Amino acid sequence: MQLGLPALPARPLAIRRTSRRIQVGPVAVGGDAPVSVQSMTTTRTSDIGATLQQIAELTAAGCQIVRVACPTQDDADALATIAKKSQIPVIADIHFQPKYVFAAIDAGCAAVRVNPGNIKQFDDKVGEIARAATAAGTPIRIGVNAGSLDRRLLAKYGRATPEALAESALWEASLFEEHGFRDIKISVKHNDPVVMVNAYRLLAAQCDYPLHLGVTEAGPAFQGTIKSAVAFGALLSEGIGDTIRVSLSAPPVEEVKVGLQILQSLGLRERTLEIVSCPSCGRAQVDVYKLAEEVTAGLDGMEVPLRVAVMGCVVNGPGEAREADLGVASGNGKGQIFVKGEVVKTVPESKIVETLIEEAMKIAESMEDAGVPSGRPDVTVS
Ligand code: SF4
Repeated sequence: MQLGLPALPARPLAIRRTSRRIQVGPVAVGGDAPVSVQSMTTTRTSDIGATLQQIAELTAAGCQIVRVACPTQDDADALATIAKKSQIPVIADIHFQPKYVFAAIDAGCAAVRVNPGNIKQFDDKVGEIARAATAAGTPIRIGVNAGSLDRRLLAKYGRATPEALAESALWEASLFEEHGFRDIKISVKHNDPVVMVNAYRLLAAQCDYPLHLGVTEAGPAFQGTIKSAVAFGALLSEGIGDTIRVSLSAPPVEEVKVGLQILQSLGLRERTLEIVSCPSCGRAQVDVYKLAEEVTAGLDGMEVPLRVAVMGCVVNGPGEAREADLGVASGNGKGQIFVKGEVVKTVPESKIVETLIEEAMKIAESMEDAGVPSGRPDVTVS
């Protein structure tokens, strides 16, 4: 039986754009570093316990870099403890008050995100920020947002066009460059994926800074997932993008799951568990939706790179089940169970879920023995 982590696709979608590499704490961003997944806490940052708890949950979900808001002095005061105790690098998100940029650098945050459009007299402070960031080795993310675009550019372009977003970011970067500071990454977020994609394309053509992709205010989970997947897919398939954040009106762990899934779907991340289930149709001889849901729930938490096929009949079922690591083709009240292309048993319909989970556990154990990292599923079969 062939076990082990599957290789990433031999032919990637695109050659990565060559970007400058920066370090966000221990995580490299840009250059040939893998595209990283970020999220942002929803707790009050001043509530250190709750924030660290949420960061721990995000870390467990696969988040690699976390951003925390810093709207008050109490939040700024909490940054040092959070940055020290977090398992992943912490970026302080600063709007309005330049003094918090310095507080975040002093607190040892792995990076600071500044929104030049709404920080008072930001351009006058760039020299001072560049000196403090250089001394501490702290990268700066210039995070331009359509909703808070610099008034000068709004006047010039009339609205937050791709050109306005890109020009705003590049203008701010040029101010840092005047002080010899290039430890920068850039984001230009918009809630419209078309505007956002075009803004990043402009940026990608005009600078070598690593780019943080995001569709801002993307909406509730369903809409936000689609907008982000479409926009990130378009850009990443052109080699543009070094780190991503999916913004959802949903718990941030969901953002991480979606982000990871986008990268896995594009072949930019080794896959973990993948359920291949058919959409069902008039030929189905089993309740495919229920079966897929039960198998997904039963294997929740499994991190080994396993492809499990759940198919509703014998038309495409055996073919797909044979191609997967593990699969079932259902029919006539029974399920043919496939492991690595071979039928290992045929079980009654009521035993399909239980059997698939048992077989998945066996494969996971073999992978563990072979040194492949495995997350055991929390198995509950009713
Ligand atoms: S596998 Fe069978 S039930 Fe599922 S969609 Fe295909 S034909 Fe329909």
